[in-house]
Amino acid sequence: MLDMSPSGPSRPGARLGARPGPRPGDRGQPRSGSVPATLGEVFALIRSGEVSTRSQVGRATGLSRTAVASRLSALLGSGLVVEDAGGGPAEGEPSGGGRPPIRLRFNRDAGVVLAGAIGRSRTQLAVCDLMGDVLVSSDLEQEVGPGPDELMPQVVACLSGLLEEVGRSASRVRAVGLSIPGTVDFGRGASLDSPIMPGWDRVELAPYLRVFGKAPVFVDNDANVMALSERRGHLERYRDLVLVKASTGIGAGIVSHGELLRGALGAAGELGHTKTPAAEGLTCRCGDTGCVEAVAGGWALVQTMRERGREVGHIRNLAAMAAGGDAEARHLVRESGRRLGEVLAATVNLLNPEAVVIGGDMVRAYDTFVAGLRETVYAGATALATRQLVIAPTTHGESSGVVGCAAMALEQVLNAAAVERALTSR
Ligand SMILES: [Zn+2]
Repeated sequence: MLDMSPSGPSRPGARLGARPGPRPGDRGQPRSGSVPATLGEVFALIRSGEVSTRSQVGRATGLSRTAVASRLSALLGSGLVVEDAGGGPAEGEPSGGGRPPIRLRFNRDAGVVLAGAIGRSRTQLAVCDLMGDVLVSSDLEQEVGPGPDELMPQVVACLSGLLEEVGRSASRVRAVGLSIPGTVDFGRGASLDSPIMPGWDRVELAPYLRVFGKAPVFVDNDANVMALSERRGHLERYRDLVLVKASTGIGAGIVSHGELLRGALGAAGELGHTKTPAAEGLTCRCGDTGCVEAVAGGWALVQTMRERGREVGHIRNLAAMAAGGDAEARHLVRESGRRLGEVLAATVNLLNPEAVVIGGDMVRAYDTFVAGLRETVYAGATALATRQLVIAPTTHGESSGVVGCAAMALEQVLNAAAVERALTSR
């Protein structure tokens, strides 16, 4: 098994759009300049599907037949690339006569990635293939707010069970991707500041996952990974988007020109704790007052409902009630959208995204929530910033968290530089 651990500090802001393709400007063209294409770059071309035969690799990179053969030999040896005999001619290849060319392709089954979206009352876990597709998944319903020593062993046990279910051993794990609510120190793989997950701050999570061998562990914020889940979704169309996670809490993941913006300290996107006049004097669960979460967060809605004598366990239930036609729940969800939209309008003016993607539990009452949100975003943002603005739900729905955790981890271990390092340091 390859050691895919990143050497040196891991690189936040890994490119997403992630066509881990050639560098801009040399798409499909022989490379100019004197630096020959690396092993990792050849892998990126094959992974993105831009090339699928030896001669296409040669044309796209300008490498000699011998150099192509040597790089492919290493890639085939690693299992990350496989050859399929037969099939029709590849695009751009002459058809008539001769043997059909042998096709090269990225081997999505050359290992697995483990994904865990850790939450306050529920943790979603999955085993994914190297394309990031979920092979098997499971939810851990837990006591509200468990500490890492309590929850992480359960996470490990559940992931081990899922691995067994798909018939893979721990040695097949290439990477682990986890998300937690709050601000995350991406480089250290630990929460930096999560008011709703007491006991998790500065606790590195990798040591809990030693049972999965040398597989590197990456940790990011919950809204950031949901934004990354759109790499196979809205990001195939839009390069600039803001993903809003509206659940118990409210957070945002920002993608600008294909890159995730984490900010100077990783605190970008803490939308829920923006002060708003509508929440003046109201105490937020972060300890401060006046945050938009105090009027629009799922926890605040549940609290309001209970104060009115209505029994409701979680925002998931409240949103389902709204979707089912409960007038009181509908009103609260619509108001939540309206209040959040007021704050989001400033984000739209500032970033001019092509799309605002809505995820989280509130999506269960999407139409009601977005009706309110649309109203105040359009009223509060400029005509130009909203002229072509698309507001849409997440592509992967309830699986966005685990799909995003897998996408985030795969970005780190399968980018050209990481593969180059892993294969040349053997
Ligand atoms: Zn707050």
